[in-house]
Amino acid sequence: MVHHKDEQTLVIIKPDGVQRSLVGEIIKRIERVGLKLVGLKMSVPSEDMIEKLYTLNPEWRRMTGEKVIEGYKSKSLKPPSEDPLELTDIILRNLKKYMTSGPVIFMVWKGAHAVSLVRKIVGGTEPLTSDVGTIRGDFVLDSYQMSDTDGRAVRNLVHASGSVEEASDEIKHWFKKDELINYRLVQEQILYDVDLDGILE
Ligand code: GDP
Ligand code: MG
Repeated sequence: MVHHKDEQTLVIIKPDGVQRSLVGEIIKRIERVGLKLVGLKMSVPSEDMIEKLYTLNPEWRRMTGEKVIEGYKSKSLKPPSEDPLELTDIILRNLKKYMTSGPVIFMVWKGAHAVSLVRKIVGGTEPLTSDVGTIRGDFVLDSYQMSDTDGRAVRNLVHASGSVEEASDEIKHWFKKDELINYRLVQEQILYDVDLDGILE
């Protein structure tokens, strides 16, 4: 089993995050919790790579479609279709357009509970309801209602892996092994060592 402190997660700063000069702010929020940056690069992704990213989990199409239908019904609205796959097709098309519209930043963060900590820092998927204090809650005003009406993807600044398994697949999708750097951060001694010895002289 991987030790907690070796858990890794993938974070993508989407094109709107780069355009709004939030790269530093987003990195700062993840960095200050104690996680370690072990991989970083910038590129304009292809539509093919984006489609593959979202469909690495073969269940994603069905699950997302069902979630969209549920979302409409919870607001007493009629979904545009009752077929989950049809709805996911639209979402995927919009996501491909959004994610390939400009440069994005890819990062791998490592540390205890990296996946769930980053999800907490990033906040819920729809900015309108993401908690205040999270990246999506603090920096975006978008909603599904607005993005669906305008026929585009919801602008939620970041992607973060949803589970340890998803993270492992997503990291392999974007990074070669030698693009990830194994190193020690001096603060790890304070975060993880069993005894806080060696501080006093
Ligand atoms: P994430 O892990 O928080 O990004 O959320 P998901 O993995 O569930 O969804 C991936 C992407 O699909 C999101 O970033 C949105 O762009 C889109 N998406 C997910 N759920 C919905 C929804 O209910 N409505 C719309 N319009 N888009 C959605
Ligand atoms: Mg996800």
